[in-house]
Amino acid sequence: MSLGPPSSRSSFEIAIICALAIEYNAVALLFDQFWDDNGDYYGKSHGDYNQYTLGRIGNHHVVLTLLPRMGKVDASIAAVSLRSTFGALRLVLLVGVCGGVPRVPQGEILLGDVVISKSIVQHDYGRRFSDGFVRKDTVEDNLSQPSKHIRGLLASFETDRGIDLLEQRTAFFLQEVQGKPSNKRSMGENKYKYPGTAHDVLYEPRYRHKHRMAASCICADSVTDSSPICNEARMLSCDEVGCGKERVVSRLLLEHKRQLEERGSMTAQNPAIYIGAIASGDTVLKSASDRDRIAARENVIAFEMEGAGIWEQLPCIVVKGVCDYADSHKNKKWQNFAAATAASAAKAILERYARTDPLPHGPRFVQSHLGTSFSEVQQLVATSVTSTLSASAASPLLASEEKPGAPFKSTVRPKLDQDTSPQWDTPNWLNQRLELEGFCPDVVIQCASTLNSMIESDDNIKLSVAHLTIRTRSRPFANGAMRTATYARPMHTTSPFVIKKFFNHDALFPAMIEDMRIQALCKAFALEFNSLVPGVPVDFVVTMSLHRKTDKSRGEPISIEPFISGDYVKYNNNFSYVLAESSAFNDRAQAFSHFTFERSWGHMMVVDLQGVGNLLTDPCIHTKYDDRFKLSETNLGAKGFKSFFATHQCNQICQRLELKSNRNMAAENRFEFRATWPSMDPTFCCANKLCRRIIRHANAVVSDKYPGHSWCDVCWHQLASTTDQLLCVGPGPDHNFEISRFFYESQGQKIPNRCTNHT
Ligand SMILES: [Zn+2]
Ligand SMILES: [Zn+2]
Ligand SMILES: [Zn+2]
Ligand SMILES: [Zn+2]
Ligand SMILES: [Zn+2]
Repeated sequence: MSLGPPSSRSSFEIAIICALAIEYNAVALLFDQFWDDNGDYYGKSHGDYNQYTLGRIGNHHVVLTLLPRMGKVDASIAAVSLRSTFGALRLVLLVGVCGGVPRVPQGEILLGDVVISKSIVQHDYGRRFSDGFVRKDTVEDNLSQPSKHIRGLLASFETDRGIDLLEQRTAFFLQEVQGKPSNKRSMGENKYKYPGTAHDVLYEPRYRHKHRMAASCICADSVTDSSPICNEARMLSCDEVGCGKERVVSRLLLEHKRQLEERGSMTAQNPAIYIGAIASGDTVLKSASDRDRIAARENVIAFEMEGAGIWEQLPCIVVKGVCDYADSHKNKKWQNFAAATAASAAKAILERYARTDPLPHGPRFVQSHLGTSFSEVQQLVATSVTSTLSASAASPLLASEEKPGAPFKSTVRPKLDQDTSPQWDTPNWLNQRLELEGFCPDVVIQCASTLNSMIESDDNIKLSVAHLTIRTRSRPFANGAMRTATYARPMHTTSPFVIKKFFNHDALFPAMIEDMRIQALCKAFALEFNSLVPGVPVDFVVTMSLHRKTDKSRGEPISIEPFISGDYVKYNNNFSYVLAESSAFNDRAQAFSHFTFERSWGHMMVVDLQGVGNLLTDPCIHTKYDDRFKLSETNLGAKGFKSFFATHQCNQICQRLELKSNRNMAAENRFEFRATWPSMDPTFCCANKLCRRIIRHANAVVSDKYPGHSWCDVCWHQLASTTDQLLCVGPGPDHNFEISRFFYESQGQKIPNRCTNHT
């Protein structure tokens, strides 16, 4: 596969971070191409001081950066900038050298072996006490688990076959590094060559590095583990200070390698790869006894200094080559080789990453863009995808999630509501109150240029922030494989709603954001379609995606949407199903799908039309854009267009709209489209953000009291009947002011406690 230079920064989904120049050099040798040889074409965000190298490794566009200094703080700052400049990053590898724990439950780690982080332990976070060390051990203080797509990738390396393949490919890429002319100044000497088993020396843990013979320095008095040694000894190698061979630990694996070496076998240099927890700290660990104690307590296999800083900002995998044993002994011989083995393993990982992405039939939500919590999404408004929310006829939809092999099957289901039929009018039947905040889609009026820009880019599909207080039942009335559905109602609204909660909330917020974007785009298409086609409008349910205000950052995602009961009808699906029924609305629905394809000049098609009456839920958008709606299993891209045309029969609405594209064009993948679209009888969305029903100009209710807003009948009725007198908390004598709580609720705004004179 050949990939040309990408058109923008958003094509870079992989980043590699190095802390040392030697690490960076080794990684750079494994790039297949560079995209910035002729200068910096891609630029960076304001305030980003990182230096980037851009290029391609295998099938991935990769951005490589070198930290200004080692350590957590610099790593964390660099990661924030990285994230701001490359908003589409999905995977970050921290590649370099580290100190290894020589004996771990998985086996013996030798110099040059590679460790891969399954988790990161911030072992020195907390205070240091003179008699030992107490780690702060609360939930917030520990770094969270790697996000899901990383877990999936790592899990594949934990199978025998997975790790064998990874080691084979790492050995292959190591030879690639060694085969390259690395550096003019290396004078023909290959700096990445295997230093040899003779230089892999592990001393007994109690045997410290210090002047051994006739020391006239403080080394002579250094008898305990913690007593100091002289600065000169710190700088000298073991041979130079006289660390004795008699205190070297003998190891079986090393002996095995030594025999391979004697036979002249290249395989002696092949690194083993270990996957496990890696300790990340603010200081270089140089004590065998600390190493063994922390390793035993935290179950870690290696020590390094940047992982915790990166992980705070971006989900990452630490890939490091072992260049020493994190003890006091001094051995610089392994740094280049260990940097090369780590870089090789990183390339081998990326090769595997290509194969696990995309997952054609994998579980939803496995892949997500960065940002898995509400607060992260708030900052990033990340892009990613899926359409699984909504569907107000909750029971049939949730039931369809119950397919064999569906993810999250083993989740313990909440108990269902005892009341099988809703009792909306019984006081206190909604027995729980939730304070929520989140986002809602933002489309209001039909406007051709708005629709054009929304078709063009996700960035033009605006969402707005919403605050909402609701009452809900404490138990759901339906359970699906992934979520529950519970009756609910916003505090000052009389119409019924339903909230959906997810069993598993990793990575859901970006998915919900993308879902709202799909809804908004469908609304915008529908607004234009309805203004061209008289009669019952094609309409879509919109959801708000919220979380509880009390949850700090990893809030449980909750979506809310109007509760609609009635017969649930599927008009078409994302493949070639078409409802065989002659009804005016069915014609309308089929023509709508065709219209969206034509109107977007063949870039998109809204299908999977289903719902109750004219109100559709859970639509799917097939799109030609590689980077949009791509987590959605239902988005089949150009293949979806073809399967639509395979069964679609153009009806009188298609004809009336002068849609040109047809089955023959689809077969040849050469389309013609209607060139211009007339300006039309405008349609609106109801001003209530929780409603957003499409209304025709003639049916919209407007009022001088709420300039710029158009309301549907139902919402207008509630608005007009809920005027309240509130006491102003502003200065001066007590006075009331008149507002509609319903109005503020409908706008996702907090209800004011001051009159307009005092705000
Ligand atoms: Zn000394
Ligand atoms: Zn030594
Ligand atoms: Zn048609
Ligand atoms: Zn309304
Ligand atoms: Zn006042």
